[in-house]
Amino acid sequence: MQGKTGLIMGVANDRSIAWGIANQLFLNKANIVLTYQNDSLKKRIEPLSDKIKCKNLYKCDVSLEPENEYSIENLIKKINNDIGNLDFVVHALAYSNKEELKGKYLETSRQNFLSTLDISTYSFTRIAKSASEIMPNGGSLLTLTYVGSNKTTPNYNVMGVAKAALETSVKYLSVDLGKNNIRVNAISAGPMKTLAGAAISGARHVFKYSEKISPLQKNPDLEQVGNAALYLLSDISSGVTGLTHYVDGGLKIVGIPNQDLVSL
Ligand code: NAD
Repeated sequence: MQGKTGLIMGVANDRSIAWGIANQLFLNKANIVLTYQNDSLKKRIEPLSDKIKCKNLYKCDVSLEPENEYSIENLIKKINNDIGNLDFVVHALAYSNKEELKGKYLETSRQNFLSTLDISTYSFTRIAKSASEIMPNGGSLLTLTYVGSNKTTPNYNVMGVAKAALETSVKYLSVDLGKNNIRVNAISAGPMKTLAGAAISGARHVFKYSEKISPLQKNPDLEQVGNAALYLLSDISSGVTGLTHYVDGGLKIVGIPNQDLVSL
């Protein structure tokens, strides 16, 4: 990745998937720009940004609040002024009201439906539009999703709907941007112990169950997801776009787990 510059959005702490990706990209000599959502997170991210020699740290809240309406466009303008063009972008952010990540999907409120899809799904399209304008030589865009998009998992609810829309966005964006040699892909990670992961009710059960029944009998770690991201963001994957790539210990392919793994 030497000579390549990328924007990574979604580091909240050293357990964040975005941090795992940033670390692997840094180890492979990429120049990295980070964003933080708000000032209280900034204090946590500053020491991490030092570790990956990231000098450019920008605030960017992607929510629908009026003051954030042009936060993405302003971010891309600032990056372009400060350091020039981009070669890759990682979108590793999502949000839904915790109260609706438990119980029935049936109870989803209109307001939380809209804000969940706005922050977790639409933001990727908006970032793709702005960032592609400063990718004159092509590039790679990557987002993060979860198997709860195409199968039900406990309490994932409206976030599953948002991830289904995100995975479909990846396909349409890859068609729109393909002629510019900009590739668009998603990583579907197995359950990981992060702040966002912990917001889903019963996360511990899902974590343990996935670990037990996945062929590798292990949930992914930050390094594994970081390495898959390295592949998708680098020229090694130059023929790959529109893909949802699973880093889940093989969980996705299991229909009914072997009898010795689950007692009824
Ligand atoms: P995390 O809590 O470390 O990261 C979530 C990030 O989203 C945080 O940095 C937070 O600041 C950011 N964010 C939330 N609302 C925002 C807003 N309005 N504006 C800007 N940023 C905002 O958790 P994570 O698990 O690393 O999540 C990263 C991505 O990975 C998410 O898309 C998540 O759905 C996805 N994912 C997580 C898991 C898992 O088990 N943890 C599995 C598959 C996919």
